[in-house]
Amino acid sequence: VQAEDVYESVLDRINQKDKQINAYVTIFDEFEENPTGGILKNLPIAIKDNMHIEGKRTTCSSKILNNFIAIFDATAVKKLEENGAVFIGKTNLDEFAMGSSTETSYFGTTKNPWDTARIPGGSSGGSAAAVACGEAIAALGSDTGGSIRQPASFCGVVGLKPTYGRVSRYGLVAFASSLDQIGPITRDVEDAAILMNIISGHDEHDSTSAFVDVPDFTQYLNQDIKGMKIGFYDKTLQDCDSDVQKAMDESIKILKNLGCEIESVDLPSAKYAVSDYYIIAPAEASSNLARYDGVKYGFRADEYKDLKDMYLKTRSEGFGDEVKRRIMLGTYVLSSGYYDAYYLKAQKLRGLIKQDFDKAFEKFDCIISPTTPTEAFKVGEKADKPLQMYLSDIFTIPANLTAIPAISIPNGLSDNGLPLGLQIMANAFREDVIFKVASAFE
Ligand code: GLN
Repeated sequence: VQAEDVYESVLDRINQKDKQINAYVTIFDEFEENPTGGILKNLPIAIKDNMHIEGKRTTCSSKILNNFIAIFDATAVKKLEENGAVFIGKTNLDEFAMGSSTETSYFGTTKNPWDTARIPGGSSGGSAAAVACGEAIAALGSDTGGSIRQPASFCGVVGLKPTYGRVSRYGLVAFASSLDQIGPITRDVEDAAILMNIISGHDEHDSTSAFVDVPDFTQYLNQDIKGMKIGFYDKTLQDCDSDVQKAMDESIKILKNLGCEIESVDLPSAKYAVSDYYIIAPAEASSNLARYDGVKYGFRADEYKDLKDMYLKTRSEGFGDEVKRRIMLGTYVLSSGYYDAYYLKAQKLRGLIKQDFDKAFEKFDCIISPTTPTEAFKVGEKADKPLQMYLSDIFTIPANLTAIPAISIPNGLSDNGLPLGLQIMANAFREDVIFKVASAFE
């Protein structure tokens, strides 16, 4: 098969489906051969539209960056390119990656390919939907509180959030810098390992990227996992739908049959993770988003009286409701009168959650849980219920707060025939354990 034919066939698929699915913000409909001839062999990969590809638009699905053209490649993008990838488009997301359903995008909701009355999850909903319905061979997403794993779970694909620092964040538009990580969304675990081999490693452009060796992750696939000690994070299971609980029972049976020892794990502070996240993430976001003021780049309001009025109108018109909610929340918790009461407390709590996990990993090789408490919900179902929406991340947020790697792999179907996900978390820089256990399910 010629490289161009693969590209054309994926493009055909996009032309057939994307009017309905809306996985893409921008589609690159010209095949530009990549002459490097690397392992990715001109395979068309999709990039979440909060990462830069030089010369292409990066919108973050926001009106405020609607017209922004990237002037450099994100490191992860560049590394894919150096290994032979070609890019087929930029995928839709919740505005600035704030959301769990892709409904806050300025470019409209992405639909779940399994049932287009439902959301694909978010914020990397476009990437997950594209991979799920063959509109891309693989994709990159970003995960601040679950944005790779939750949509992967809802769309029946594999999504990995690497250890914080494993993958460079250079060229990823910052949402909450201490939580954001780029990771792969793929059809199977092997593809995730291949992409991780490529995108991982220290980068001088990102001071938070780690000086840690990158092993060949594919060597951990399909190995014996007998004797592995696995903690089952079951404490929040009462918040899950019954079919999610049943799916967990099934995966525990599989692991036991493979010779693993499974025990309930106690993470007493983890139940506060969502509350903790909604202080820390908005705080960082309010600071990161201060740069969108209409002066240097992006959207600027048409009419204004003076500079202050220009800022006000640009930001009022340029940002959507969820982004504004987070900026206000973040500004509040960082303000001098409330910093100690909220932000500082939240940082302390983050430390306690980390201690819980450190302790758990003294005993367990990895920790499993459902990825989400429910199947994919209906479009509009939670759109005006932000607190309910926030709860769809109860299982995914702890990994971001503690900087550990976590994967979501397909875990059977719900009673409605929709995909469910199994989450596997391991200690920092132990993606090897994740690949061992995840590949045992395939
Ligand atoms: N759903 C979470 C939020 O709205 C996480 C988003 C993300 O990981 N980018 O913030």
